[in-house]
Amino acid sequence: MSQGSKVGVMRASPAGGPAGRAKTARKRLTILGATGSIGSSTLDLIAHRPDAFEIVALTAQSNVAALAKAARQTNAHLAVIGDPTLYDELKTLLAGTATRAAAGPAAIVAAAAEPADCVLAAIVGAAGLEPTFEAVRQGRRLALANKECLVSAGEVFMSAVALAGTELLPVDSEHSAALQVLAGAEPESIETIVLTASGGPFRTWDTARLARATPEEALRHPNWSMGAKITIDSATLMNKSLELIEAYHLFPVRADQLGIVVHPQSIVHCLVSFADGSVLAQLSAPDMRTPIALALSWPRRMSTPTRRLDLIALGSLTFEAPDETRFPALRLGREALSVGGTAPAVLNAANEIAVEAFLKRTIGFCAIAEVAAACLEAASARGLTGSAMRLTDILAVDAEARRLAQSLLSRYV
Ligand code: NAD
Ligand code: MG
Repeated sequence: MSQGSKVGVMRASPAGGPAGRAKTARKRLTILGATGSIGSSTLDLIAHRPDAFEIVALTAQSNVAALAKAARQTNAHLAVIGDPTLYDELKTLLAGTATRAAAGPAAIVAAAAEPADCVLAAIVGAAGLEPTFEAVRQGRRLALANKECLVSAGEVFMSAVALAGTELLPVDSEHSAALQVLAGAEPESIETIVLTASGGPFRTWDTARLARATPEEALRHPNWSMGAKITIDSATLMNKSLELIEAYHLFPVRADQLGIVVHPQSIVHCLVSFADGSVLAQLSAPDMRTPIALALSWPRRMSTPTRRLDLIALGSLTFEAPDETRFPALRLGREALSVGGTAPAVLNAANEIAVEAFLKRTIGFCAIAEVAAACLEAASARGLTGSAMRLTDILAVDAEARRLAQSLLSRYV
């Protein structure tokens, strides 16, 4: 794809966006995926600044009690539950409030279209594609946590962003860090963008031990508190593959300018090296409230109740080479980018199926990357990795790749 069509740092003009509005105006915010890890962190930030935000809509898939509680606490105008069988329960829980209730996938997409200054897209997985695309079409600010939009639908998504003039702010911590470090940089001056990886809970495990890793062990992340899917991706290091694809679409660089380094303390989130030999990095405690706050307030900074860094207490920050032998998922992002077309969508879909199977104990830990790699290979052989022009093309490939991955699972049981 041409570098000129990429947005992110180049679009993040300090004068633009709702942050430029008068200080007293409350920002109208919609949260898609309000009951998840990112959604809850966002609600926590808002609870500290009730004067700063007006909640337009909150959505969730099945946690109706948490959704109703959040809607009551924030006086949200609309609450939407994805599972339609929970509509009556949501209505009951919202009785006596001014919050409207709605249910079903189409209602989540409609919530994304409600007039708002900013939509925070925090649904997990490819399920977030349609509502997030709808938010893009509104042409306002999109605080993007749902990395699958960029992974599965990168080119199509970035074209939609450019067409609608949407202001895109990444929430993923590494990409939020890159946005800050790159602000004002000329694309030609960027040599490399290096994303850091904690290494996950199995950083020091050998292959034999990895093969026996249980879901409970994989869900115990050393630094970050996150939803189950991304926590497993952090243990396999597939998350870095997905983030490499994300960075490729967000920033004006080639795939060979993107790197990964293991940094077990998760304090440095991204390092950018420039033509003059300078390396700039962003540091903060591993707490998603910092990048979320930045996406909501950019180009300003809002105060957050996060732990402040104490470098002397930390003592040292260490860096290691990523090990693609023990963690083969690390290779797959780059491979999918080099296959091109819809290969990243296939990789994402296969990984979602494999992670689900691992969590249900159908397959072992090492089989996650094996299923994803086999699915990518089988999909390219079947010509499933051609180019996509529209979201519907991506959704069709996603569905087909899921069927393919499902059929491959039996080999690894
Ligand atoms: P989570 O599992 O904690 O929460 C997911 C949210 O999505 C919930 O509100 C859930 O109700 C909703 N949801 C799930 N399935 C849905 C469906 N089919 N339809 C509609 N809504 C549905 O996930 P999370 O950890 O908060 O991650 C959310 C997104 O942010 C993911 O794309 C993840 O990769 C990305 N992200 C998360 C973190 C983190 O620290 N948690 C960091 C970086 C990026
Ligand atoms: Mg990240």
